[in-house]
Amino acid sequence: MNGLHRLLVPLCLLLLGACATPGIAPQTDAPRTLLLVSLDGVHPSYLGRGDTPNLDRLAREGVQAAWMNPSYPSLTFPNHYTIVTGLRPDRHGIVHNTMHDDALGGFWLANREAVGDGRWWSGEPIWVAAENAGLATATLSWPGSEAPVADVRPARWHPFDADRPIAARIDMVAGWLAEPIATRPRLATLYFEHPDGSAHAHGPHSAELRATMREVDAAIGTLLARLESAGVRDATDLVIVSDHGMAEVPEGQVVATEEMADPEIATLVMHGQVVGFRPVEGRETEAERALLGRHAHHQCWRRHELPPRWRYGTHPRVPAIVCQMDKGWDALPRKSLARRPSGTRGSHGYDPAEPEMRAIFIANGPSFRRGATLPAFDNVDVYPLLARLLGVPPAPNDGALETLLPALSEPLPHAAPPPSH
Ligand SMILES: [Zn+2]
Repeated sequence: MNGLHRLLVPLCLLLLGACATPGIAPQTDAPRTLLLVSLDGVHPSYLGRGDTPNLDRLAREGVQAAWMNPSYPSLTFPNHYTIVTGLRPDRHGIVHNTMHDDALGGFWLANREAVGDGRWWSGEPIWVAAENAGLATATLSWPGSEAPVADVRPARWHPFDADRPIAARIDMVAGWLAEPIATRPRLATLYFEHPDGSAHAHGPHSAELRATMREVDAAIGTLLARLESAGVRDATDLVIVSDHGMAEVPEGQVVATEEMADPEIATLVMHGQVVGFRPVEGRETEAERALLGRHAHHQCWRRHELPPRWRYGTHPRVPAIVCQMDKGWDALPRKSLARRPSGTRGSHGYDPAEPEMRAIFIANGPSFRRGATLPAFDNVDVYPLLARLLGVPPAPNDGALETLLPALSEPLPHAAPPPSH
């Protein structure tokens, strides 16, 4: 760039991109909005097979990863909170969808009081970093966003409501992004519990799963059309992720937790695919004898002896003994077993290294390269990218910005400069 251009570029920015200099593309200084979207339970194989033309186009014309590795355990709340904090579940404290904390009591997804209690949620979600930097945020309805974390909530947030129609969700978020710059959020989130529910109920290879993918993809298409007609598509960076994939659970592949350990010697704390037990006081030796080691469809460890690659077991909310079900097997208390519908089902919560647990990552917008495919990466790496896009300082985290720098177009006018080495 020559000296004249060095002078003219800032001047053009001051004039809101009103001048065009030969050799320099017109620029605007309109702030960009980062929209983070989650489609719960989408495996990469659900894309590119005719059900998802809108997602496929965003991937083709933007950036997509071969896949994204979930963190352990490959469950919904732990991974959604990892994506927005960059911390492994063992560090951010949402160690399972169902938890016990000696001081706080019980946590489960339908317990709105616990879900909205900031004491469960550690770390600094990206909306807190943004709000602290003076950037307005709006969430619909990311796990963790219903609680004040470090006493900060998104400026606009909404309790999760499964009855809110997909069209109403698109309408709300498109409305936010079309607002005048003075009120438009700089960070927004949009969460769909789809297609997770269809895949749980009918299995990942079901017609129902594919129908739900077509439905959510059409919703994404509507959102894009709304942004185009409002003239803000070029001011919006989209990051679309899932939290985990899904494995098929054939009929009958379920174990009663009471058969894993008698409730008289070990109290069940978590169930499903990652099963946690707390030995009854005075019965520790019996509990360990019954549980530890390899079994037909699962394996159990003392929490401090779990495979190191899972980076799990140090948080006080992780029970003393953790059992990992084999892929395709569930573990439920007998009372839940009795209510379980028959037929092929789907589950996640298996070893994140299982290919079926892989998640998706797509990015598209003015800050991203066009037509780039990235190798697989861990989902802790998303958070430093989000911080970079917003130009806010990232809190300490387990991710690496370097992983996703190749996703970015250059220059990135609204990001902080990279740290000097
Ligand atoms: Zn999920």
